[in-house]
Amino acid sequence: MLAAIMYGPGDVRIENIPDARITQPTDAIVRTTYASICGSDLWPYRGYAEFGAAGRPMGHEAIGVVEEVGAAVRNVRAGDFVAMPFAFSDNTCVHCQAGIHTSCLHGGFFGNSEVGGAQAEAIRIPQADGTLVALPGGADEALMASLLTLTDVMATGHHAAVTARVAPGKAVAVVGDGAVGLCGVIAARRLGAEQIIIMGRHEDRIALARRFGATDVVSERGEEAVEHVRKLTGGYGVHAVLECVGTDQSMQTCLSIVRPGAAIGRVGVPHEVDIPALAPTFVKNLTISGGPAPARAYMDELLHDVLEGTIEPGLVFDRVVSLDEVPDGYRAMDERKALKVMVKM
Ligand SMILES: [Zn+2]
Ligand SMILES: [Zn+2]
Repeated sequence: MLAAIMYGPGDVRIENIPDARITQPTDAIVRTTYASICGSDLWPYRGYAEFGAAGRPMGHEAIGVVEEVGAAVRNVRAGDFVAMPFAFSDNTCVHCQAGIHTSCLHGGFFGNSEVGGAQAEAIRIPQADGTLVALPGGADEALMASLLTLTDVMATGHHAAVTARVAPGKAVAVVGDGAVGLCGVIAARRLGAEQIIIMGRHEDRIALARRFGATDVVSERGEEAVEHVRKLTGGYGVHAVLECVGTDQSMQTCLSIVRPGAAIGRVGVPHEVDIPALAPTFVKNLTISGGPAPARAYMDELLHDVLEGTIEPGLVFDRVVSLDEVPDGYRAMDERKALKVMVKM
């Protein structure tokens, strides 16, 4: 089967690899219909990763059709249309029951040499009963993009909002205008935020943020950005920040725009981020929360809203490529010529 393999920074190739096959009775094989390229795929693309000689199978976001199930799988069967969250989990252990599926005792992540990647014609799904979420068969083609976002970016934006304790009446800032940040705007609005400030500079992304419910835009950087947020919030700062970038600079911005007692929900994978112990975190009674989103925990409620048409996160996709064109998709996202790329098999 064909799959995207990354051999080093900037080096993604489509290669013929052995077919995905069942190795455990709890596995399923899903034939991918749509996959996507994630902002987090750009970290290894830009050199923040180790690559073995065999390369790294890429991709952790896909929807598709179950082709085959292992002997112990009960909840899905061949022919079902399903979504796979970016982490697999049994959905039954103590951590899954607590809603932290990304820490499942029998779980793990897609997009590595152990499990394989979703930017491929097919993928092996460990813990299929716990991992896969059934989607309505015959769903409208126009819904595919939004369904695909449930596997990561929409769930991750939602996790940022949940861990930042977004609630009715709150003033919220979203740091990062990538796909996750934009989905964070959707999530903040969905949870009833009164004010949603998007911090970003790209005109088309800002326009989308406004469409998703952003009430204010802060396009400055550094101290000017901080001043602008203060001005927009009566001088107090925001109650909640969704940190959707993961750099030290973005974290310092988050720490500068919060009011006392605020919560910061982090979903951008931190890279060399330094969080001071005393000021402002301790002094201002801040909550710093977040982590890898337990997408599985949120998929049912978010799927409901996508099917109802009350949210349309699929609008974050602005380019569609074939599997052969995946290397071009990476290039476009790396050069910021595309916001998020969908792969149509
Ligand atoms: Zn992702
Ligand atoms: Zn579990």
